[in-house]
Amino acid sequence: MNSHKIRVRFAPSPTGPLHIGGVRTALYNYLFAKKHGGDMLLRIEDTDQTRYVEGAEAYIIESLKWCGINYNEGVGIDGPHAPYRQSERKPVYKQYALDLIKNNFAYYAFDTPQELETVRKSYEADKKNFQYDQKNRLQFKNSLTLSQSEVSFLLDSGSPYVMRIKIPENEEILVNDLIRGEVRVNSSQLDDKVLFKSDGLPTYHLANVVDDYLMEISHVIRGEEWLPSAPLHVLLYRYLGWENDKPQFAHLPLLLKPDGNGKLSKRDGDRLGFPVFPLQWTDPSSKEISSGYRDAGYLPDAFINMLALLGWNPGTEQEIFSMDELIESFSLERVGKSGSKFDPEKAKWFNHQYLQQMTDEELAELIAPDLTLKLIHLDRSLLLTVIGMVKPRMNFVHEFWDQASYFFVAPSEYDAKAVKDRWKNDSAETMKKVSTLIQHSEPFTAENTKTQVMNFIVENQLNTGVIMNALRLIIVGASKGPDLFEIIELIGKTETLSRIDKGIEVLG
Ligand code: GLU
Repeated sequence: MNSHKIRVRFAPSPTGPLHIGGVRTALYNYLFAKKHGGDMLLRIEDTDQTRYVEGAEAYIIESLKWCGINYNEGVGIDGPHAPYRQSERKPVYKQYALDLIKNNFAYYAFDTPQELETVRKSYEADKKNFQYDQKNRLQFKNSLTLSQSEVSFLLDSGSPYVMRIKIPENEEILVNDLIRGEVRVNSSQLDDKVLFKSDGLPTYHLANVVDDYLMEISHVIRGEEWLPSAPLHVLLYRYLGWENDKPQFAHLPLLLKPDGNGKLSKRDGDRLGFPVFPLQWTDPSSKEISSGYRDAGYLPDAFINMLALLGWNPGTEQEIFSMDELIESFSLERVGKSGSKFDPEKAKWFNHQYLQQMTDEELAELIAPDLTLKLIHLDRSLLLTVIGMVKPRMNFVHEFWDQASYFFVAPSEYDAKAVKDRWKNDSAETMKKVSTLIQHSEPFTAENTKTQVMNFIVENQLNTGVIMNALRLIIVGASKGPDLFEIIELIGKTETLSRIDKGIEVLG
């Protein structure tokens, strides 16, 4: 035990789709393991059968795969500590729970849920919070208050029971956290958590500690929401006799909503206008669909790069990191203590950056199928040229058509606002003159056409903006796009003239 190899785990519960905060936890585990030549395993913590959600496990595995978080052991690939699904490890846990009872670190409790509910209500009536703990445990029906023969009778007759940890009184428990430093908690604040139930299943706390020990985990890197459980886990390591093999803890700061008001939660879904899941998810019971980054057109490398910087900083101005660079630069020391606000605009910015890094050929591979679907005749060299021209304006591959359709087909309508602002009373008249110029522009290059049009403007003392805006409107259909004369050269003289004619006719 306790080889000095770095071994980390990502241990989600399959209670629904993985939230982007969960993906970030997985990512930091992965970066840390790879940086130190260690292992990362995926363990599925499915002991709470009431919260099990169909399809969640497959979703988690697919998400990690899409992100390039290639764990090297665990559910989906197996390894020396298989099985990695806690529901399949059921026989493992009971002996540890019994050990705790034998050593007086835990006890049986037979209180029914209804009995506990009645007590809870009476506490609430007194405006107090109820927890089963050292102050009141002697008022309940458990092996601390019943005689040994009563306990044996109840167990033998199959009465439902739970095993609870016996939290020590007034003891300072120290959690050494690699991010938060020394966290000290007085044990009197802790409750006697349930560790094991008579259905034969452990709770999260026991299963988590036992598995981290058996799977030789060296570092537990997980979300801050688990920090309150850490003192209990520290006690369990001690009571199980594993004090010296205890993993090191690192609790990651929260991911916050964009306005900084609270944790970004699964329920935020599309409510705030951006996905909170890596992949699209269809809820198996309500059939409700939540969007995902992959389906919204994000490139996995951009998504990962964006997530990596939400909580960790490299200590330099560098923002663009490949996975290999992240592995190289990552350290837990540079993970902050305070929460990071999620910034949907920054997420788009990252995708934009990664899109710019792709070659025109690579983008053409992704864009061509859509053009084929739209029955556009594919002239490869035209496509590459157009991609080169509109790429700087694109954040996503799927924006190509919106940014570039006018290179392939004449606009079928004109943007109403642009018409209002840019089509003047005399526009039709001037466009007729521009049309004549273009007809005679030889050679028909962007440069030559531009010279002709500019000369015409100067000679007639016209306003360049007004002319160019009107011309763009009838060529493009809106007031967007790259250099107009380059567009004109690419679509060709005949098409240009026909668009001018049509524009004059429609807009009058
Ligand atoms: N199963 C827990 C979860 O769903 C794991 C917490 C931990 O990493 O210890 O997040």
